[in-house]
Amino acid sequence: MGVSLISVILVVPFGINNILQGRTLLGLMCVAITLLCIITAWFCYHGKYFLSISVLGLAPMITFAIALAVYRQGDVASYWVFAGVLSLYFILPEKQAWGANVLFLAINLPVSWYVLEQASFIRLFAVLIGVSFYASYSIREINKQHALLKEQVARDPLTGLYNRSLLRSSLEQAINVNRRTDIPVSLLMLDIDDFKLVNDQLGHDVGDSSLKAIGYALHSYFRDSDMVFRVGGEEFLVLLYNSNKANSTIIAEKLRKKIEKQSLIPDRNLTVSIGVSELKSEMGWEAWMKRCDNNLYLAKSRGRNRVVS
Ligand code: GH3
Ligand code: MG
Ligand code: MG
Repeated sequence: MGVSLISVILVVPFGINNILQGRTLLGLMCVAITLLCIITAWFCYHGKYFLSISVLGLAPMITFAIALAVYRQGDVASYWVFAGVLSLYFILPEKQAWGANVLFLAINLPVSWYVLEQASFIRLFAVLIGVSFYASYSIREINKQHALLKEQVARDPLTGLYNRSLLRSSLEQAINVNRRTDIPVSLLMLDIDDFKLVNDQLGHDVGDSSLKAIGYALHSYFRDSDMVFRVGGEEFLVLLYNSNKANSTIIAEKLRKKIEKQSLIPDRNLTVSIGVSELKSEMGWEAWMKRCDNNLYLAKSRGRNRVVS
């Protein structure tokens, strides 16, 4: 929306000037670019974005308007080609921007070659190719960093498991899939037993490394399609796709035994209590979690190191 509105402010004076100077077609193209930007901004304001407006409308219009401006006005208009290339990378996703950039060069370079003096054209050619590569490379790097950052924000640094940031959206998505397909989906809520004692008796460092070990055990125990979250200090939540109450209880029980047998810390066994809850059709994500939490509470109150579903 911001890019569209700034473009409107930049393009409108040139549109008016072109019309006043008798360059009617160029003026009308500026009007078209302005209108497309306003439409895009309006949609963005309402939370929508139509890629086709940018790919099939704005990008070709910018390309042809700049080619026409260079053709009509020569040197003075040739500066627009740089703004044109950069604008493509702002308004389009990477792949489409790359394609639009090739089209932009294929049209604007021959026009510039035809209109400009040789020395001017060679400079424009070199800088334009440089700007195209630089813009394309920068956007690729920015996208890569963005994806990496998104991944890091969603992960707990100690265990590498998902943190709470994706919890709500993941549960809501699971609920939607369940409503559409009727495939069962379950939650396991797991809490380490008497973990405070581990910290108090063996130290915080041992506590941390056992959390890491449990995180790793959970990560390798579950399927890639399941999602494992660290939702609190020593509390974990697992979203199990395609698993009903009976199956999830078996999975939880196997996990409980596996953790009990592993010697994750020196001289003692860590145990966990697990609450299980299969999604029922009327439940929202909060009620679903609450039910699972209640089952975990029951597991604790019945003596710990057990599964309640
Ligand atoms: P229960 O069996 O009822 O779950 O008892 P508990 O001692 O495990 O439960 P409680 O909630 O009383 O204590 C949880 C402890 O987990 C308290 C806190 O010191 C510890 N803890 C929470 N986060 C971390 C962490 O990141 N690292 C370490 N080392 N300890 C943590
Ligand atoms: Mg605990
Ligand atoms: Mg706890």
